[in-house]
Amino acid sequence: MSLVKLDRSYPSVQGAPVISSVETDIFRLRYFTYCMDCDFCHDTCCSYGADIDLGDVERVKGLGKDFEDYAGLPAAKWFDGNVVQDDEFPTGAMMRVRASRGHCVFLDTKGRGCKIHSYCLAHGLDYHVYKPVVCFLFGVTFEYGNLVPSNEIKDASLICYGQGPTLFEAAKASWRRSLVPRWWRRWKRFAMACTMFHKTNRILDRLVVLTVGLGPLFLASLFCVLFHLDFVIWMLLMIPVGVVSGILTLLPQVRAARIRILRLKYPPDD
Ligand code: SF4
Ligand code: SF4
Repeated sequence: MSLVKLDRSYPSVQGAPVISSVETDIFRLRYFTYCMDCDFCHDTCCSYGADIDLGDVERVKGLGKDFEDYAGLPAAKWFDGNVVQDDEFPTGAMMRVRASRGHCVFLDTKGRGCKIHSYCLAHGLDYHVYKPVVCFLFGVTFEYGNLVPSNEIKDASLICYGQGPTLFEAAKASWRRSLVPRWWRRWKRFAMACTMFHKTNRILDRLVVLTVGLGPLFLASLFCVLFHLDFVIWMLLMIPVGVVSGILTLLPQVRAARIRILRLKYPPDD
């Protein structure tokens, strides 16, 4: 993890949030991204509701009876009504979209995805204007002026974590459309620098694994030659070395295995 301060602060098209630093993990971490093609996630990221700007609340309510029928729930039950002052939201205040029976009230439980999103697409509306910003940016989020991975990705608890494009690639279109447009003019160089940073780190990690594996091997061989120890002792010295370097080498595979297990645990619907 590494927070990079930008040359200046970049406000979104609506004035907030204002981004002044970027967590470079957004160029490294990945999630599935193509949600409607996902056959194993059961929309688990929509289990908890979401923070929503008061402006979005009014616009969603303004969709009227037609959307209320589509949502299948009276408008009075959509939001928790607890207004929280937060300067990082365009109106300076937000509340929560409610969750009920283990999912957001706008989740389409008979089909897939978000009903605000699908309603907007069906009616030729721009969903960025109605949907909570934290939802359409999902993968990245804003926190005290920092552009950072969403919490479920940061703590690797998201079911589709670890596969697909990077968070930056996934959120690029939405960020470009709605937020910090001036920063996007410069994103290419910044993205390249950060991607290079992570690639270099990966190479260094592998070198560390090699060093951890081969260094003690070399030292143990030298030790045996110098003190005329026999092959059995050499082998005994090698066992802990093999275990440590094996664990280090296998660590990157653990995440991929976890995704495969989750796929088995949540098989595709018929
Ligand atoms: S869990 Fe992953 S793939 Fe499924 S809807 Fe959420 S972000 Fe998309
Ligand atoms: S508003 Fe839509 S995208 Fe956001 S949590 Fe609810 S169902 Fe998911």
